[in-house]
Amino acid sequence: MAEVLVYVDHVDGAVRKPTLELLTLARRLGEPVAVALGAGAEATAATLGEHGAVRVLTADAPEFADYLVVPKVDALQAAYDSVSPAAVLLPSSGEAKEIAARLAVRIGSGLITDAVDLEAGDEGPVATQSVFAAAYTAKSRVSKGVPVITVKPNSAQVEPSAAAGTVEALQVSFGATATGTKVVSRTPRETTGRPELTEAAIVVSGGRGVNGAENFSVIEALADSLGAAVGASRAAVDAGWYPHSNQVGQTGKSVSPQLYIASGISGAIQHRAGMQTSKTIVAINKDSEAPIFDLVDYGIVGDLFDVVPQLTDEVKAR
Ligand code: FAD
Repeated sequence: MAEVLVYVDHVDGAVRKPTLELLTLARRLGEPVAVALGAGAEATAATLGEHGAVRVLTADAPEFADYLVVPKVDALQAAYDSVSPAAVLLPSSGEAKEIAARLAVRIGSGLITDAVDLEAGDEGPVATQSVFAAAYTAKSRVSKGVPVITVKPNSAQVEPSAAAGTVEALQVSFGATATGTKVVSRTPRETTGRPELTEAAIVVSGGRGVNGAENFSVIEALADSLGAAVGASRAAVDAGWYPHSNQVGQTGKSVSPQLYIASGISGAIQHRAGMQTSKTIVAINKDSEAPIFDLVDYGIVGDLFDVVPQLTDEVKAR
C-alpha cells in the first residue's frame, strides 16, 4: 500500500488536533507515515500510533528551535526522499503552509492549500477547496509530481485507528540556507484560556451590531459557556473592539468549526469567505433581511443583547 507523509504539528510532544484529522484523511489515501520534528518529537509516537501512523520519523536539532522554517523543510524533504510517498499532507497553519510551499518547489510538485476534504482518485488524491471568497466549491488534483496538500482544521472527524507507530530516527543534513534567518526573540501571546480560533470546534463571533468593545463580554460569555473561541467581523476589528488576530474572513482567519454563531454580523461576502465551510451556522441579527440568513442552518431574528444572554443561561443550565 502507498505511504502518505503527514507533517506533525505538536507542542513539546502534545499532538495538536489538526494532525489527528490529517491522519484520518491520510488513511483514505494510503498508510500514514508521520514526521515529527523538534523537542518532544519522540513523545508523539504513542498518540500518532493510536490514530493510524504506521511509522513516526523523528528528528530533533537546535536548528528547529533557533531558526525559521527552512530547517523543517530540510527535514521534511529528507523524510520525503526516504519514503517516496504518494502524497504529503500538512495542516493549514501559517508555518506549515510555508513549509508546504517550499517543499513543493524543491520536489517540483503541485501544491493545494486549504483543502476541506480529501478522497482517493484514480489519478491521485482529489482535494475539495472553497474558493473565490467561498462562492464556489472546487475539486482539485495535482497533475505534476507528488501532491503536497494542506488541510484546514476541522475538515474531518478524528477517527482513532491503532497502528504500530514505531519510532525511526530521521537523518537530516541541513542545507546552506537552513540557518539564514535566526529567531531573535519570542513574545508569547496573551492567553485567554479559550481554544485557538482556527482549531476550535465552536466559534462565537460578534460584529458591528455588538456596538462597542465593552459589549464583547456578552459574546465572550456565550463562548465560554460552550468552550468556544471568539471571532469578530472586520467592522468590529476596525473599530478597535476586538484584536485583528480574532478576525474571521477574507483578510482574517479562515475557520471551519462544527458550529459557528454569528451575532450582529450582516454576512458580507468577505466575512463568509472565512466561515462558510462551518458545519452548522447560526445567526442572530435584528434585521430579518440580513444576507447572513441566506446561509444559516438556524436564524434568530432579534436583538443580540436579548438573545445571546438567554442562550448563555440556557447552555449553562444544562
Ligand atoms: P455590518 O455589515 O454593519 O452589519 C452589522 C449587522 O448587525 C447588521 O446586519 C445589523 O442588522 C446587525 N445588528 C445591529 N445591531 C444589532 C443588535 N443589537 N442585535 C442583532 N443584530 C444587530 N469583513 C470581515 O468580517 N472579515 C474580513 O476578513 C473582511 N475582509 C475584507 C476585505 C476587503 C478587501 C473588503 C473590501 C472588505 C472586507 N471585509 C471583511 C468587510 C466586509 O465587507 C464588511 O464590511 C464587514 O464584514 C461588515 O461587518 P459586520 O457584518 O460586522 O457589520
